Amino acid sequence: MEKPAYRVLLYYLYTDIEDPEERAQQHLEYCKSIGLKGRILIASEGINGTVSGTYEQTRQYMEDMKADPVFQDITFKIDEAEGHTFKKMHVRPRPELVTLRLNDEDVDPRETTGNYLSPKEWYEKLQDPDTIVLDARNKYEYDIGHFDGAIRPDIDYFRELPEWVEKNREMLEDKEILTYCTGGIRCEKFSGWLVEKGFDKVNHLEGGIVTYGKDPEVRGKLWNGQCYVFDERLSVPVNQEEHVIVGRDHFTGEPCERYINCANPDCNKQILTSEENEQFYLGGCTHECRVHPRNRYIEMNKLTNEEVENQLKKIEANRSVAHK
Ligand SMILES: [Zn+2]
Repeated sequence: MEKPAYRVLLYYLYTDIEDPEERAQQHLEYCKSIGLKGRILIASEGINGTVSGTYEQTRQYMEDMKADPVFQDITFKIDEAEGHTFKKMHVRPRPELVTLRLNDEDVDPRETTGNYLSPKEWYEKLQDPDTIVLDARNKYEYDIGHFDGAIRPDIDYFRELPEWVEKNREMLEDKEILTYCTGGIRCEKFSGWLVEKGFDKVNHLEGGIVTYGKDPEVRGKLWNGQCYVFDERLSVPVNQEEHVIVGRDHFTGEPCERYINCANPDCNKQILTSEENEQFYLGGCTHECRVHPRNRYIEMNKLTNEEVENQLKKIEANRSVAHK
């Protein structure tokens, strides 16, 4: 088989890292020297990254990381790509890789975590009527794709998840919980937190959605929609057998898998919408965002005041017919 031109590597490892600041600085220089682009976080609890590069650059990176005793246990999830999926290379030191508790000591997933399920075991448990499936990601990630029947916590940030669980405790009590996230990093911590909170049957998907979609046996089955990712691709396919669209257009509710950021730079909310509707609604998620003085859609398309006024009238007329 022909080698892909570019590849994207997604990986993390919970491990002790001394002096994350200095590590981050060295790692940035090293990544730049081999030509990678991407985003990497380094904390005293480990490393988490997504990088893109040519086949050779990514091969070099994985080989060098495997040769480093600190990073040798990393599992890389590899996607083929047509080009870089980032514009720049960032390596940032952080207090934690992912933050679940703000003012308290965070859970150490190397000490406390849920039961790991392989993709095959996960696929079987998904169909067990006595399990409950809880998505551990943010709502905008859920909205473009999720496991069949999964619960959607109404959160914008991972750190809001504990409060959501406390409020919805009765929904989860006495149930066998299945929880998952993109690559597994959030769930290792979150499932540990659930265990600490007294939930006794807690499972999480090893390697996350990305690994599940690549598993040759389960082939992403029972996943609906796309998987949201934090790079320029925005989403990647998971289910290799069928593609059920679950995303809905922000304006019309029609099936949609295209994410844009609201054109109001102060809002910047991610919304699903078609090119036609983006155009029609001037890229703004609400009327306030459409008429915002720094609306990026209006700027980019160099619309005149008159054109904007006309469009706002059309939107108004249209609203009385159907949509919001
Ligand atoms: Zn907006």
